[in-house]
Amino acid sequence: MRLLVVEDEKRIADFLSRGLQSAGYAVDVVHMGADAIERVHSTEYDLVVLDLGLPDMEGLQVLQKIKNRKTIPPVLILSARDSVDDRVKGLEQGADDYLVKPFAFVELLARARVLLRRGQPTPEKLQVGDLTLDCIRRKVHRNNEGIELAPKEFSILEYMMRNRGRPLSRTMIVEHVWDMDYDGLTNIVDVYIRHLRSKIDDKFPTKMIHTVRGIGYMLDAPETQQQSAGAAENVNVS
Ligand code: CA
Repeated sequence: MRLLVVEDEKRIADFLSRGLQSAGYAVDVVHMGADAIERVHSTEYDLVVLDLGLPDMEGLQVLQKIKNRKTIPPVLILSARDSVDDRVKGLEQGADDYLVKPFAFVELLARARVLLRRGQPTPEKLQVGDLTLDCIRRKVHRNNEGIELAPKEFSILEYMMRNRGRPLSRTMIVEHVWDMDYDGLTNIVDVYIRHLRSKIDDKFPTKMIHTVRGIGYMLDAPETQQQSAGAAENVNVS
């Protein structure tokens, strides 16, 4: 899950970014409306948190430009207490929810989760073979045994389970799970996959995480493995 925070006040932007990151999301932050529009056009976000008072343009203008797109991320507006009109206008123009400043972080997180769930066509629980992942409670089980995962490990596993049987490149995984400030090597994916394997696969005779040579990794359970391996050969990932 990748979120964009549009907020010019650095203190609030940092606070939001830190909180959302520790909740396991990849978070990009921009301080200007123009940058927000550019990023929404170049990157697929699962949610945009948008402050209405920005230095270069009105948040409502940003909202209009975002909502012109074909694939539209949900938008959560942040507004000052005295701008009731703006909030109403925001909702009329297609914002999905709003929060009045000052707000508690738990409140923002709760609303963000509702909007992220709404945007998900897939169920709240993912299952591949005997491996289950509860997206809401953030719990993972294999063969009914609970498995503890770090937030990034959880995000990678969730991404792989949603794309069951599809080979994913290291770049795809990095772009999905890390934010734009991450400019390290995609080798970090190998490190995390190693951790995931030790927690998910090592104890079990049937392995779920597969290395796809020349591409990256794929998660699948035995019954569809053969079919997926065939598909993998036909996939070109640059
Ligand atoms: Ca502001």
